[in-house]
Amino acid sequence: MGKPLRHATVLFLLGLVAMASLLGGESAQPLGFGGPADEDWLVRVRTDLTGDTEILEAQVAVADARLGQAEAMTAQSADQPSSVATPGPQPLIVTHTVHKGETLWDIARRYDIDVDTIVAANDLVDINRLQVGQELKILTVRGALHTVQRGESLWDIARKYEASMEEIVSVNQLANPSRLQVGQELVIPGAQAQAVALRREQLVSPSGQLLRNFDWPVQGRVSSRYGTRWGRMHYGLDIAVPTGTPVRASAAGTVTYAGSMGSYGLLVIIDHGNRVETRYAHNSRIVVKVGQRVKRGDIIAYSGNTGNSTGPHVHFEIRYRGTAVNPENYLKR
Ligand SMILES: [Zn+2]
Repeated sequence: MGKPLRHATVLFLLGLVAMASLLGGESAQPLGFGGPADEDWLVRVRTDLTGDTEILEAQVAVADARLGQAEAMTAQSADQPSSVATPGPQPLIVTHTVHKGETLWDIARRYDIDVDTIVAANDLVDINRLQVGQELKILTVRGALHTVQRGESLWDIARKYEASMEEIVSVNQLANPSRLQVGQELVIPGAQAQAVALRREQLVSPSGQLLRNFDWPVQGRVSSRYGTRWGRMHYGLDIAVPTGTPVRASAAGTVTYAGSMGSYGLLVIIDHGNRVETRYAHNSRIVVKVGQRVKRGDIIAYSGNTGNSTGPHVHFEIRYRGTAVNPENYLKR
């Protein structure tokens, strides 16, 4: 699609959005991951840490709860971008809802952008597994999409993406660059920003090496390490935290298990694509569902002491190609 044509489409869509607003529809809802960015307000029920008790868990056979993926069918081409995110002369972000049989390459071609722009803007972990109905943010310029975090300044963001502050201000038409809103989405223009965004989510190198790019699910004292203890194998890392501590996804992915499982207690499993999986055990409460897509840092559960556990802690596992590995080798320092 050429520039003038795209512009015309954009104006048409803006018109639609305006009409929908007048009619009281909800399609003018701004895009975004929505929701409060944080739930740190949750009262920490207990403040006592576990002692030096070492917890050993026998490996529990896990039913391979893979999600049913949509079968590739014939592509449909008569769809339209479903809404416009940013008001203004030229929207920077458009939402596209994935249709049956559509690939990332089809979508990229339709919007006249490259596949990496879509991957970088959507934290896509497995580019071969789009889900029907999944909403993708389509940037109309090459770059990355950033959601403003609490306490973050424009300078922080520019530095993070190795981008220019002036360009971010101009592309996003920021009237007041010193007052960013938490949760606000910014387009960070440029191939460099895009490369940074892609690198941030990468868990496996092109040669198949698992990378040290996992975030800690909680911050706390390691109370038991991965490895053999008393002749039994401990497949994860135990991090002692008070019950009720938010447990966060250590990378973007799709929830494949959310519920009770034997000695794991209340367990969350996230599939990160490329045969990488993480597990978070002994929770007191789970706040995600099977099939849900999560971003790095999203709260997935609150820690606890369920299952085979002698004190509140998070038992965290990383599995690559079906085998548990030592999380301490892959968690960011
Ligand atoms: Zn453990």
